[in-house]
Amino acid sequence: MKEKKLGLNTICTHVGEVEDTQFQGAVSPLFMSSSYQYEDVDVKRYPRYFNTPNQEALGKKIAALEKSEAGMIFSSGMAAVSHCMLGFLHKGDHIVLPQTLYGGTYNFVVEEFGKFGIEYTFATGFSETDFSNAIQPNTKVIWVETPSNPLMKITDLEMIARLAKKHGLISMIDNTFASPVNQTPADFGIDIIIHSATKYMGGHSDICAGAVAASKEYMDVIWNVSKNLGGSLSDYTVWLLERSIKTMALRVKAQNKNAKKLAKYLDKHEAVDTVYYPGLKSHPDYALAKKQMSGYTGMLSFELKAGLNPSTFMKSLKLIKQSMSLAGVESTILSPTHTSHALLSPEARKEQGIADGLLRFSVGIEETEDLIADFERGFKGA
Ligand SMILES: *Cc1c(COP(=O)(O)O)cnc(C)c1O
Repeated sequence: MKEKKLGLNTICTHVGEVEDTQFQGAVSPLFMSSSYQYEDVDVKRYPRYFNTPNQEALGKKIAALEKSEAGMIFSSGMAAVSHCMLGFLHKGDHIVLPQTLYGGTYNFVVEEFGKFGIEYTFATGFSETDFSNAIQPNTKVIWVETPSNPLMKITDLEMIARLAKKHGLISMIDNTFASPVNQTPADFGIDIIIHSATKYMGGHSDICAGAVAASKEYMDVIWNVSKNLGGSLSDYTVWLLERSIKTMALRVKAQNKNAKKLAKYLDKHEAVDTVYYPGLKSHPDYALAKKQMSGYTGMLSFELKAGLNPSTFMKSLKLIKQSMSLAGVESTILSPTHTSHALLSPEARKEQGIADGLLRFSVGIEETEDLIADFERGFKGA
C-alpha cells in the first residue's frame, strides 16, 4: 500500500499493522518476546532497541500520521521529550524554548540541563522577534508548543521553520495538544514532532506513552541516544496504543466539534469573563490557527467572573471530573493555579496571564447538551 496517498482514517486504521501471516486475524498479533534469535538475521531485535515487531510497526503509523519518514514509540511523553533533546544537545549547546512550556518539560530543562552543561533561554513571547532575540551563537535547537497550555496561544510554525533554517537550528515541536488530526507540522518544515501519546493518541486515559516523527537521518540520531537512555515502551502497551489510534481521528473530530460548541456557549455566558479557544473568531490568534490547523482541538480555557469561586464551581459538577490529565474521551477540568502552575509564584502566573479564576477544560465526546447541563449546575454552585 502506498501510504502517502491514504486518507487520515485509513492511516489510523491500517498503516503499521503487524501482518498475521499465521492465522490471518483482523488485528496485529502481539509479540511479547524480549529475546530474539540473533544468528543469521539482519536485525538484532530487543525491546530497548525500539525494534520489536509491534514497536516497529506502530512507528510506521506515527510516521504516516505526521507525514514524516520515520516514527518511534516511547515509554512516556517525557521519554520522547528528553531523548529527543539529549539526542541533539551536547555540552555547551543552547536551546530556545517558548515562554510557556508543559510543566514536565519545564522541570526537565530547569532541573537537569545544568548537569549536562546545556544552556537554555525562554522566549519572552510568541512572535518572531521574541524567538529571534533568544537565539545565541551556540543555539542548536528551537522548541515550540502550539497551541500553548493553558491559554491556547498559537505560534506560527512557518515562521519557526524559517528562523531555524536561517540560523541552522533543528526545530522541534511538542504537538500533543493539537494531535496529528488537527496539525501536521512537517507541512510547515518543522524537523522533529513529539507527542505525549498518553493524551489524544491514547485517548482513553489508560495508557502512558510517547511518540516521535522525523526524517530517517534525524531518527537515527534519536535512536542512538534512546537505546542508551532506555525509554522504550512495553509491547503490550504498544499494542493497546495501536488499537487506540485506530479511532483517534473519529474521537478528536468529535472533541473538536464539542469544544467549539462549548466555547461559544461559555463565551455568551454571563458568569464567564474570557474564553480562550483558537476556534473562536474573537481569539487573537484565530487567523493563524486557521492557517496552520485543520481543527481547533478539544482543549479550551475560561475565566470565571470575579467573585465566583472556581473550586465550588468544579465541586458542583457531576459529569465533568477534576483531573490533571487531558484528551480522554471523558471531559475533565482543572484549575491551573492549583495544579499545573501551582509551583509558579503568583507574579509569574500573572505574567503568563493565568488568573486565579482560570479553568482549563478538556472536552470529551459526551453529548454537548449534557455537558452544558453540568456547567449550569457548576454556575449555580459558584
Ligand atoms: C502530558 C504532556 C507531556 C508529557 O507526557 P507524559 O506522557 O505525561 O510523559 C508533554 N507535553 C505535553 C503538552 C503534555 O500535555
